[in-house]
Amino acid sequence: MIVMKFGGSSVADAPSIERVVNIIRGYLPQHPVIVVSAMSKTTRKLLRAAELAAGGDLAAGTTQLEELKAYHMEVIRGLRATAVESEVDGYFNEIERLLSGLAILREFTPRGRDRIAAYGELISSKILVEALRRAGVNARWLDARQFIITDDDHTRARPLFDMANPKIVHALRPCLEAGQIPVTQGYIGSTIDGITTTLGFEGSDYTAAIIGAALDAQDIQIWTDVNGIMTADPALLPEARTVKILSFAEAKELTHFGAKVLHPKTLFPAHEKAIPVHIYNSKQPDAPGTVIALEAPPARTPVKSLAYKKPISLVTIISNGSLPRLRFFKLVFDALERAGLFAYIAAISELRVALAVDSSEMTQALINQLRHAAQTMVTHNHAIVCLVGERLKQRPGIVADVFQALNDMRFDLISQGASEHSLALIVHEANLETALKRLHELLFQNPDPALFY
Ligand code: ADP
Ligand code: MG
Repeated sequence: MIVMKFGGSSVADAPSIERVVNIIRGYLPQHPVIVVSAMSKTTRKLLRAAELAAGGDLAAGTTQLEELKAYHMEVIRGLRATAVESEVDGYFNEIERLLSGLAILREFTPRGRDRIAAYGELISSKILVEALRRAGVNARWLDARQFIITDDDHTRARPLFDMANPKIVHALRPCLEAGQIPVTQGYIGSTIDGITTTLGFEGSDYTAAIIGAALDAQDIQIWTDVNGIMTADPALLPEARTVKILSFAEAKELTHFGAKVLHPKTLFPAHEKAIPVHIYNSKQPDAPGTVIALEAPPARTPVKSLAYKKPISLVTIISNGSLPRLRFFKLVFDALERAGLFAYIAAISELRVALAVDSSEMTQALINQLRHAAQTMVTHNHAIVCLVGERLKQRPGIVADVFQALNDMRFDLISQGASEHSLALIVHEANLETALKRLHELLFQNPDPALFY
C-alpha cells in the first residue's frame, strides 16, 4: 500500500479536487490511503473568525465564517457532491455555536484553537470522499482522531506512537483488505481522552508519514503545487530547478532550515522505516517529481538546494564572569527552553554565546532571565541562508566560492561543521534575495543532469 497526501492548494477548488480524484484513480492498484489538508487558507480563516469572536466581535467572526461556508458550498456544488451538503452544513453550525461560546468566554485557549482548526480537514475530507464516490471509487471517510493519538501539548502535539501505531493498523488495515480507499485528515489528532489536538501548522505531511510508517507503506507521496523539491523556493527564484533525488539527511537539513515544501518532522518516521518519500505536483501529475531516499547518488555538483528562514533575531550573550563557564552555558540553554525559543545556529567563544532564533517577543523574556549573569544583546531583521548537499563538509572549495560570491555582505553568524550536509549563514534580511540569487547562479550554472530536471 501507499500513502498519498494532498495539500491545501491541491484541494483549493472544484477543478483541483477533480484533478485529485483522477490522480487517486490512477493509483488504485497500489492500495492508497489518502490524507488530505484543509482547503487553502481555511485553517487561518477559521482561527481568525474565532479570534474575532473571542475578542468580542461575534458579528465579524460570524461574517468571516459565513464567507468560508459559502465558499465550501460553492465547491460542493461545483463537484455536484450535494450528498455531503447537509453534513458540511452541520459542521458549520457546530463552528458557529463554538464562536458564540468564545464570544461569551472572551478567551481562546490553545485547546479551543485545536478544536476550531480541526474543522478545516474534517470538511475537506468529507468533500473529497463524496467526489471520489461520484467517480466510482469505493472511498471511506475515517476520523484521524480515532488513531492519531497525541499528548496534550495543544497546537503542537506530539504523537504517542505506542498508542497511535496499533490504532492506525486497526483502523486502516480492515478497510484496505476490504478493497476500500480510506480517506482521512492530516494535521489533526486526539489525546487519549478524546480531546482534539493538532500537530502544528502544515502538519499534514507529518500525518502521512506517521500513517505510512505504521502500515509499512511502500511509498509516501506528498502532492503539492510545485514539481518537487527545487534548488530554491520557486516563489522567490523562478529559475529554480527540480531536484531528482535527495537523501533523508539532506532533506532533513533543508526542511529544518525553512524549505516549506515539507513539514520538518515528516522525514523522521519515513527514514526510520526506510520508506521513500515522493513529492509530486497535483497540477502536473505526469511530472517526475522528487524522491527522498536512503542515499543520493554521488554528484558532480555538490549542492542540491538552498533554504532560507526569516525573520531571524540574533542574540549575543556575554557572561559577567559570576558563573563558572559550564554553568553559564547551562543557564543560557535552560533560559532558551523556558522562553520557548529554538536556536537554529549557535556559536560559543570564551564567555560569549551567539544564537540565531526566530524573531519573537520572547527574546525579551530571555534577556530578563539572564540579567543577573550576563549582558544580552538582540538584533533583528536577519535571515538564515543555508546550502544543503551530501557531504558538503568534505568539499572545502565551496566555502571559498560562497564567500567570494557574497564578498560585499556581512555575515553575523556562520555554521559549518556541525552538520555534514549544510552550511548556514546569517545575512541581513534586506540582503536575502540578492544572496540567494547570487548563490543560485554560482551553484547551479551548470547543473548535473543526473540530479536535476
Ligand atoms: P501544501 O499546501 O501542498 O502543503 P506548501 O505551501 O506547504 O504546500 O508547500 C509548497 C510550497 O513550498 C511551494 O509552493 C514553494 O513556494 C515552497 N517551497 C519552499 N522551498 C521550496 C523548495 N526548495 N522546493 C520547492 N518548494 C519550495
Ligand atoms: Mg505544506
